[in-house]
Amino acid sequence: MKSVSDYFGSMVFNDVVMKAKLPDDVYRALKKTMSMGTHLELDIANVVANAMKDWAIEKGATHFTHWFQPMTGITAEKHESFISPAEEGRIIMKFSGKELVRGEPDASSFPSGGLRATFEARGYTVWDITSYAFIKDGTLCIPTAFCSYGGEALDKKTPLLRSMEAINKQSLRVLKLFGNNEVNHVVSVVGPEQEYFLIDKEMFLKRPDLIFTGRTLFGALPPKGQELEDHYFGSLKPRVSAFMKELDKELWKLGIHAKTKHNEVAPSQHELAPIYGTTNIATDHNQLTMELMKSIAYKHGLICLLHEKPFAGVNGSGKHNNWSIATDKGGNLLEPGLTPHENAQFLLFLVAVIKAVDDYQDLLRVSCASAGNDHRLGANEAPPAIVSIFLGDELTAILDSIDTGSEYNDKGKLQMTVGVTALPHFPKDSTDRNRTSPFAFTGNKFEFRMLGSSFSVAGPNIVLNTAVAEILSQFADVLEKSSDFNRDLADLIKKTYGNHKRIIFNGNNYQEEWISEAAKRGLSNLRTTVSALPMFISEKSIELFTRHDVFSKAEIHSRWEILTETYVKTINIEALAMVDMVKTSIITASLAYQQELLSLLQMKKNNGLYNSSVEEYVLKHIVDLSGEMVKNLQGLEKALDIAKKEQDLQKQAELYSSGVVPAMQDLRKTVDALESHMAKKHWPMPGYSDLLFGVI
Ligand code: ADP
Ligand code: MG
Repeated sequence: MKSVSDYFGSMVFNDVVMKAKLPDDVYRALKKTMSMGTHLELDIANVVANAMKDWAIEKGATHFTHWFQPMTGITAEKHESFISPAEEGRIIMKFSGKELVRGEPDASSFPSGGLRATFEARGYTVWDITSYAFIKDGTLCIPTAFCSYGGEALDKKTPLLRSMEAINKQSLRVLKLFGNNEVNHVVSVVGPEQEYFLIDKEMFLKRPDLIFTGRTLFGALPPKGQELEDHYFGSLKPRVSAFMKELDKELWKLGIHAKTKHNEVAPSQHELAPIYGTTNIATDHNQLTMELMKSIAYKHGLICLLHEKPFAGVNGSGKHNNWSIATDKGGNLLEPGLTPHENAQFLLFLVAVIKAVDDYQDLLRVSCASAGNDHRLGANEAPPAIVSIFLGDELTAILDSIDTGSEYNDKGKLQMTVGVTALPHFPKDSTDRNRTSPFAFTGNKFEFRMLGSSFSVAGPNIVLNTAVAEILSQFADVLEKSSDFNRDLADLIKKTYGNHKRIIFNGNNYQEEWISEAAKRGLSNLRTTVSALPMFISEKSIELFTRHDVFSKAEIHSRWEILTETYVKTINIEALAMVDMVKTSIITASLAYQQELLSLLQMKKNNGLYNSSVEEYVLKHIVDLSGEMVKNLQGLEKALDIAKKEQDLQKQAELYSSGVVPAMQDLRKTVDALESHMAKKHWPMPGYSDLLFGVI
């Protein structure tokens, strides 16, 4: 058997392969382009393309594709084979520099949010040289950005790369002020923890709701849920373990550092976390991870559900976005240092994040808004829709002492003065106890916990990078003019913390009292997607993103439109699926059961068996609940009708949120009650017990 180190990255055209396969001068030119972000000359591209093709063919590839991330949130690819006709009916395998660097998918069916009129439907893709090409399922995949002919970004990668440039530029300005001239490049880094469910494929195929929407729209709760907490970190069932082993192996071949895997809280729920990496690559890798989870599950007779809330009554799935800022010299700018000087720098970056999160809470909330995530945020599941930061008691005490000028009393030892005192060493563990916080400092990084499991991490990181870049630029503006750096630096840290400490909350975010406390502090609480999305097109948002060249105004509007439309479409599909299931199978099932009970009653009567209390007891429930169900069905159809007629997109989304969603909940309630009274053999689909406990 081959060891992991033998096949790790074997499907990636990475640095080692480049060095081995490219002539020296070409390799150097390519590396320069990668690190400087400069233009790749066509003659260089031709040599690279040819080497890539030979390498890919050696590995069994027949096709290539530009692999991109349109605004659907998933990835897109259009495969083309390497074959090219040659003399005498033969073929040769070809791949040119032009094909490597640029593609022109006819992409008229991708959402563009009005950015692209259909008469100029073509967009083009350009190689993101910073992310390595790889082979997936016999196809050489080139990671690319996707733009319109007018130059507008039609994808998630382009603005993400722009936001990385913003944080690079502003961080370098700040580092220079600290006399740090060795650092050439700064990136944000991310380690996304991915939660998911695995259920049996046969069960899945019998549930139209799962097939159409990725979540159960009905389902009476089973006697057992997650209350015994016996699934969390429990031993893996053989099928799940086999799936995880194959997944790890395939991820490793793609150079993805899959690191931890375990069972999660809900039955059938699991988690995978990679080792963190540069944000745009981590984003590519997370997309690939989600894709492989689905395809490998299928091979094991399983279905991987990435929806935020596949099942009512047990936890939904999220994605924890562990984020920090790293330098090309291996430094972590959110790591408390050992010297007073390092710590002054750490504290400045720390308060920059605090101010960024406070100033742009709404945008962070928007970046995690979707119909699926509405079941988690602001519902009784972690974390709430209120953005706040957990710093931990020690760090909060340190900042408080700076704020009040009082002595920081770490066992009576220390007075905290910026740039003069070293931070006390605090063990990592003590900062990582609060699992209810949406944005927690965990020793040397922030863990943003609001993301939904199905999300691309691009959106939240675009906001995070840009917001922090903005605050760093404000800081640099002040400090670059300073005549007494240490004094002004200390002032800036003190003032910033003082002005923004309302965003710090170290308590339990799930408690009712936090909601009123947060309101008192003036923090925003955007409970639904529909209330959050308009913040994206606010003046403040447009100003932020345009100032840092992350989004143009038109790009912002296009994204708002796509997100709002996606919300409307998602709820609409869910509502239609409910209507369809009730009409075509649940009513029929109820009637069949009623008929069976009535025939039995009749038979008993005919035979002089007058005690029919059992049939009457069951019948009464079935008849009453079915009647109520039909009433609620009509209620839902009416709400749908009203919402569909609305022409204005924002108003329509509001109607879906305030009219259709509650009508769906009403319908679900009666159907679930009906299910719990029905004979199992009459229920037209597997129930929660089968779905949640069916993988053995
Ligand atoms: P937990 O479940 O305790 O939050 P995990 O080990 O599941 O921890 O996930 C932690 C994630 O944070 C991993 O992806 C890890 O690589 C990542 N991480 C660790 N250090 C950093 C850092 N400095 N910046 C960004 N991510 C980091
Ligand atoms: Mg975590």
